[in-house]
This record gives sequence, structure tokens and C-alpha cells, in this order.
Amino acid sequence: MTETSMSKDASNSGDGEAGGDGRINRLRFRKKDMPGGLWLKCESCSGTIYRKEVVEKAYTCPACGFHFTMPGADRVRHTLDEGTWEELFSEIEAMDRLGFVDSGPYGDKIERTVKRTGQNEALIAGRGEVLGRPVVLGVLDFKFLGGSMGEVVGEKIALCCDVARKEGKPLLLFTASGGARMHEGMLSLMQMAKTCSALSKLNEDGGFSICVLTHPTTGGVTASFAMVCDITLAEPGALIGFAGPRVIASTIKQELPEGFQRAEFLLEKGQVDVIVSRDEMRNMLARLIDFGACRPGAGATAGRRPASSSERASSSGAEQEAPSTSVPGDEAKGSSGDVASSDGS
Ligand SMILES: [Zn+2]
Repeated sequence: MTETSMSKDASNSGDGEAGGDGRINRLRFRKKDMPGGLWLKCESCSGTIYRKEVVEKAYTCPACGFHFTMPGADRVRHTLDEGTWEELFSEIEAMDRLGFVDSGPYGDKIERTVKRTGQNEALIAGRGEVLGRPVVLGVLDFKFLGGSMGEVVGEKIALCCDVARKEGKPLLLFTASGGARMHEGMLSLMQMAKTCSALSKLNEDGGFSICVLTHPTTGGVTASFAMVCDITLAEPGALIGFAGPRVIASTIKQELPEGFQRAEFLLEKGQVDVIVSRDEMRNMLARLIDFGACRPGAGATAGRRPASSSERASSSGAEQEAPSTSVPGDEAKGSSGDVASSDGS
């Protein structure tokens, strides 16, 4: 029930409700990840900013540092070393198995979205390198039906886990999602179990996984694979939750605390390991990958390749010893047995 209302928020209504407690509403995600035009208004500091400058600063506000939702293709470019990206499974397409119709047939909606985005699905998957360290990367793109998880997204995540396992590479996931794709009904909800069991298998075989929660990550994605990786990072100010704050407030009939469901709030409560800003992301990922490779029980699937060449030199910032930032490590979360308790439903 909550799932339905959340997904509606994500893919249909989009805009946060007017009025009410301003701060929370301000953080509710919009239908468009970034408004078009030359200028735009920052949803955090309300400043009028030049769009091009925001894009140049990796979709962050030059005034207050607010992290806008980043398109999937830009995320891939921003995360990986130049020229290392190799896309996988892009040929898998969504199907309207249920003949679902809401404002129009789901099949038509997919067709339009594929045409508009130039992608077959919400998850972009592939291989690449982060500062010379090979990874398997999966990025959820919010502009494809609100980054919602249907059969294809679930399948691609499971396939990414397989590739990471077989090739002994760390799995790196970025989420931006309104939750499970309600157009696919039960089939989309089944992806929650499927992705978690794939990650669990990766974990059992000594694999290493990192998930970066970005604005916004909600619904069935938060309640499944996003929260069961070895390390959970978040971007500053990201909205992360299962049901929306309005639904929760009216269910428990209590006022919600300040900053509820934001990354900083989740860090304080222990649901997130580290908050990392976009300009620090690559360095942090590289450090964590090294950390993952030398942890006890890393087994055959240790991801580190003895990095050579110029990449080593350029990544000197990331070449420090084990990270000093406190990272609880995998024993804190480990297997997908924790999934059920982390969804809070
Ligand atoms: Zn701002």
C-alpha cells in the first residue's frame, strides 16, 4: 500500500505538495530531475543559478553545494576513468506482460521513454575502472520512469552480480529511484527478493559490493538491494526512505523529526556508512575498493588489480593507507538476511 503511494509520487505526481513543513517538502523530488532552460532555481538555497555551471560542477549547486539528481550517462562518465566504459546487457528490453493501463498503456509508456532517453531501461550496467581499479558498475537513471525497478532492472542487477562474481571484480551500484515499478505489479516486487539473493550469493563467494544512495532513493529499491551491499554510501542531502514522509506521519500520527529521511539523518541512525560529496566520490570509491580487496575472507573475488601506469600517479590522493574514515565493514551488514529488517515496512 505504501509502496503504491510512493511509486505514484515518483512516476506520476512528482512534485512535492505545496505548503506543510517546508524543509521536508522542499526535499521531495520533482518529476523532472532538473528543469530545462538557461537558468534554474536551486531547490535547497533557492538561488538562481546558471544551468551550464551546474552541469560543469557535476550537477551540484555552485552556491550551496546541493546535489541535483544526475543523469545516468553523466554518472557513468563522472565515476569511471575515461575510455574504460564497456556497457553490458543494454539489449534487454522491458515487456508489458500484464497489459497494464493507467493514464495509458504501459507498453506505450515504455516506447516513449526509450525514444526520449535513448536507453532501453532504467539501469545502465557495464564494466569500467575507477582510478585504475576494475569494477562492475550499475547505475539507476531517474529519468527513465523514475528509476523504477521492474523485471529488467532486477535481471540486470542479478547479471551484474554474476559478472562481478565470475570476474572477481567489486560491484558498484548507484541508486536514484522511486521504488518498484507498479506497472509490472507483483513481477516488480519479486525483483526485491531476486536482487537480494543475487547479492547474497556474491557475498557468500567472497565478493565485495558498494552501493551509493543518491537523491532520491525510495520504495522497493531502498527496501532491497540498495541497503544490503557491504558498504552503503550516500550523497549529501539525498532523500532516502521507503514510504514518503506524509504517509508515515499520517500512519503513526506523530510529527516527524527535523531532516527526516535525509542522508545525514540516516548516517546518524547507522543506516548509512559514509556521506560522500560528488567531488570526493572517485577517491573514496578507490579507497573502499582497496579496503575490500584486503579485508579478511576476500577470497578469490578480491577486486584489486595491481594498478600500473599513469593511472596510479594520477590517483595519488586515493593511494593512502586503509581509509581512516570509519567503515564498519561487512560483518556489520553482511548477508541479505538483514533485508527484511531494513525495509521498515
Ligand atoms: Zn543551492
